[in-house]
Amino acid sequence: MSVSNALSLLGYRVTIVEREPVLGGKVCSLHHPFPGPVSAMDILAPPIDRIREDPRILVNLSTTIESWSYDGSEGLASLSDGTRVRADALVLATGLEEVPPSLVPEYGYGSKKGVITSLELEERLSKGQSPIDGEMHSVVFIQCVGSRTERRGVPHCSTFCCTSSVKNALLLKSEEPSREVTVLYIDIRTAGPEQEALYREARRRGVRFIRGQPSLVMEREGKLLVCGENTLLRELYEIPADLVVLATGLRPRSSNSGMFAGLLIAAGATGFPEPHAPARNGVFLAGSVKRPMAIEEAARDARAAALDIHESLIRVQDR
Ligand SMILES: Cc1cc2nc3c(=O)[nH]c(=O)nc-3n(C[C@H](O)[C@H](O)[C@H](O)COP(=O)(O)OP(=O)(O)OC[C@H]3O[C@@H](n4cnc5c(N)ncnc54)[C@H](O)[C@@H]3O)c2cc1C
Repeated sequence: MSVSNALSLLGYRVTIVEREPVLGGKVCSLHHPFPGPVSAMDILAPPIDRIREDPRILVNLSTTIESWSYDGSEGLASLSDGTRVRADALVLATGLEEVPPSLVPEYGYGSKKGVITSLELEERLSKGQSPIDGEMHSVVFIQCVGSRTERRGVPHCSTFCCTSSVKNALLLKSEEPSREVTVLYIDIRTAGPEQEALYREARRRGVRFIRGQPSLVMEREGKLLVCGENTLLRELYEIPADLVVLATGLRPRSSNSGMFAGLLIAAGATGFPEPHAPARNGVFLAGSVKRPMAIEEAARDARAAALDIHESLIRVQDR
C-alpha cells in the first residue's frame, strides 16, 4: 500500500494484487502495535482510504500473479483471475511467515492447551478475545523460538520480537497487576529509545525477565510448567503458567518460493533475498519480504522502493 501510494503521487498508475480478501497484511492481525499508542486500524485506515479514493490505483483482492514476462522496458503480468496487466515494473511486497513452532516440540505447541504464538496472541487480543479460556494468573513469554539457531529454525534475529513481547507482557501485567508475567530470553534486544522505554516500564511494573530459554514445557496437575535454567544465576527454574506465548522466528514465506525461483530472485545466507542485489527483469522488492522489519521501517522501505522504480524508469526513458 505504501509503494502504491508513493508511486501514485509520482504520477504512475498502479495495480495491487492481494492474495487475501482484504488489504493490510499482517498489521490487520496486530492489537496495539509498538511503539504505540495508536491501534492497527489507526495505522491502516489512512493508506486504505487513500487507495480507495485514488482513481490511479486499482485493487485486485483474492488474486495472485501467475507469471511475469519482461522485455527490457515493459512487462506483462498474468493474474490468477485470467486478467493480464501491462506494467513497467513488478513490486513484490509479499511479507514473511513465522517459523513453525512445531520445530521446537518440547514447548508443546499443538499438543498442550495454553501454548500459542505471538501472532496468535495478537490476533486474539485484536478481536477483543481473551488469550485463553479461564483465569490467567501466570503468563510466560519464550523468546527466540526457532530463531538465532543453526538447527530447527533460522540463524538470524528478527529484530522486533523482544519489543513485541515486552509490549504484550506490559499490557497483560497492567491489565491485572497481581498477574505473574515472565519473559524468558537469550538477550533482550529492544533497540531504539521508544523500545527501551517500554522495556524499562515493563520492569518497573513488575514483569520478570529471566535469562535462559526453557528446556521443556510440561503439564502438572492440569497446569503448564515451564522448566529451564537461569543462566545468569545458574539456578534452575520451574514456572507454573496458564498461558505460554512463543515468540517465533520469521522466515521467507514458503508458499512464495516457487514464484521467487521463477523470477530468478536469489536467496542470501538467511534465506531472504540476497541483500543489495540489483533489480532485474523489472522486479523490485519492498518491506518485510526482504527481512523482518517493524511497520515504520517497512513503510519507509516501501517509499524508497517507489523512488528506485521512478529512477529506473527515467533511465529506461533516457536510453
Ligand atoms: C507477531 C508479530 C508481531 C508484530 N508486532 C509489531 C508491532 O507491534 N509493531 C510493529 O511496528 N511491527 C510489528 N510487526 C511487524 C509487522 O507485522 C510488519 O512490519 C508488517 O506487517 C510488514 O508489512 P509488509 O507489507 O512488508 O508485509 P505483510 O504485512 O506480511 O504483507 C504482505 C502481504 O502480501 C500478501 N501476499 C503474500 N504473498 C502473496 C502472493 N503470492 N500474491 C498476492 N499477495 C500476497 C499477503 O496476503 C499480505 O497482505 C509484528 C509482526 C509479527 C509477526
